[in-house]
Amino acid sequence: MILLMGIAGSGKGTQGKMLADLEGFHLISMGEVLRMYITGKKRERMLAGELLDDKEIIGIVDRVLKSLPDSEEVLMDGFPRTISQAEWLLKQVKAGRFKLDLAFHLTASRQAVKERLINRARVDDKDDAIEQRFDEYERSTQPLLKWLADHGVKVVDVNAERPPEQVHADIVKHLSKR
Ligand code: AMP
Repeated sequence: MILLMGIAGSGKGTQGKMLADLEGFHLISMGEVLRMYITGKKRERMLAGELLDDKEIIGIVDRVLKSLPDSEEVLMDGFPRTISQAEWLLKQVKAGRFKLDLAFHLTASRQAVKERLINRARVDDKDDAIEQRFDEYERSTQPLLKWLADHGVKVVDVNAERPPEQVHADIVKHLSKR
């Protein structure tokens, strides 16, 4: 399993698709899974840029992973996003359910990605929701990067303020060094 992490607009989705196409990995995009299945009040919270409940997210990931053949290499876009989610994931790794190869951290400043998000115009790409997702990232996901490294997961920073092809080339280079 390979993790893709980064602030909203850093290009996790784009890089996930490029890499999955190239390597034949199975791509799981948490945001896409959730936008498809989550309804009602929870959907409103999600579209406002709040993270959804860890227990619920873990339940969904568990089910999605169970539906895949064991042989598939999985590329995770947007999971884990909190330390609780990562604790669950590392427990699965310890139990031998899958191997965690490395995490790519797509680095980009708020200013650099804001323009991208406004141009993309996804349903949750509204000014308030964008700021909320940036804040959530700083509060929940940024500390997770250090936590993962402290728990023996290799975290590779990739400068994501560059054009997608250059970011992709860097990711591929790192993977070939594995
Ligand atoms: P994304 O497409 O990755 O930017 O995710 C869109 C939204 O889905 C986020 O703003 C959260 O509301 C929700 N979401 C995605 N992944 C997670 C996660 N691992 N934990 C909690 N909420 C998530």
